[in-house]
Amino acid sequence: MSLDAWTAATLSLSSPLSAEALQAAQLHLLNDTIAFARQASPFYRRLALPDVPLARISDLAQLPFTTPEDLTRADPPLTAVSQSQIARIVTLPTSGTTGAPKRLHFSEADVDAIIAYFAAGMGQFTRAGDTVVIAFPGERPGSIGDNLVAAMARLGARAVLVPWTLPPEDLGRLIEAERADVVAGPPVRMLAAARCHRPTTHRVRAALLSSDRLPPPLKQALEDIWGAEVFDHWGMTETGLGGAVECSVHDGMHLRAPDIHAEIVDPQTGAPCPDNTPGELVITTLRRRGQPLIRYRTGDRARLDTAPCACGSILPRLVVEGRLDAGIDMPSGRLTLATLDDILFADAAVTDFTADWSKGAPPVLDICLATASLHHATDIVPRCRQRLQASPLIGPELATDRLRITVRLNAEPLCQHNGKRRLTQA
Ligand SMILES: [Zn+2]
Repeated sequence: MSLDAWTAATLSLSSPLSAEALQAAQLHLLNDTIAFARQASPFYRRLALPDVPLARISDLAQLPFTTPEDLTRADPPLTAVSQSQIARIVTLPTSGTTGAPKRLHFSEADVDAIIAYFAAGMGQFTRAGDTVVIAFPGERPGSIGDNLVAAMARLGARAVLVPWTLPPEDLGRLIEAERADVVAGPPVRMLAAARCHRPTTHRVRAALLSSDRLPPPLKQALEDIWGAEVFDHWGMTETGLGGAVECSVHDGMHLRAPDIHAEIVDPQTGAPCPDNTPGELVITTLRRRGQPLIRYRTGDRARLDTAPCACGSILPRLVVEGRLDAGIDMPSGRLTLATLDDILFADAAVTDFTADWSKGAPPVLDICLATASLHHATDIVPRCRQRLQASPLIGPELATDRLRITVRLNAEPLCQHNGKRRLTQA
């Protein structure tokens, strides 16, 4: 079933889905969400939410934003149902000033909506009888891996959930030994698996990557090594794990329209951005009961394309560019982890890396490279140093001694990241 057909069926709309019908349904769900939040959530009762329905979706821009900090507070709670109706609580560290963790609450129906979306998204390239290797964390109930296993059961596919601690070489071998039709996991973990063990007798049909940005050279490597069609997915715990997924055209990720309304706003002024203009991604959950989020600032930089897709879908397409606050301003431009990803993963021996920036005169960028086998790693350090020197952003900094780079090797094919991969600063 196409994502449009699934969206129409989920929202009881007629197929083929039209943009007008979807907008009308989203306006209805937005008004329902606002009315429910005002009535059921102590947090939203205190916010000045309008007590008359929005006439147009664009009227949503009059409402106040919510932020990650709002999810760290217990008083007043953001939850909108009693504790007995909460099926899952997910606790996440925050990078905010309070240091308090974010807490996300999901009702049984919210969890079912997550699994239904995972089945619909994975169903774009997964068939009954397929073997699907899942390399996301899955030990805890409600984790991505756990929900994917449930979704694969709905599709009639065989799920193989691998332990999070499985070394990448073993993961690569398992994908070949299990004759996996589809694999799903975080980009760098999948790259390390593919580069540590190149299958000789098997091709993977499709790979679903999520939880981190998908660098183009990483995508290319998985296409070359596995022969797989690579599908990018964006989501966060706040969106109910799933958020948007690529179609076979691979030109943006189609939004999970029954559950999420997306806006792009100017990060400074909060004013709405025109179509296709990058800004901060702001989401409002639809149909969420445990803890609805209204105009939640994700901190992600993205743009939204509402033009129909070449695949035939009318679902808006999201292009996520990275975190808003990430990066270091240098005289020749802004250095981000994405810059380094695109340079370093283009080297066929690199499986992972960490990057630490320390201030000084000059500042030092310390790169720790990971590779499949240290025995064959003699030239990887000078080669990657050359790649960095050749970069139009980094090269001029090095040439004028405004930056120093140290490059060393990690003992394992995957690095310790302490949570999300990022360009750390000291
Ligand atoms: Zn499409």
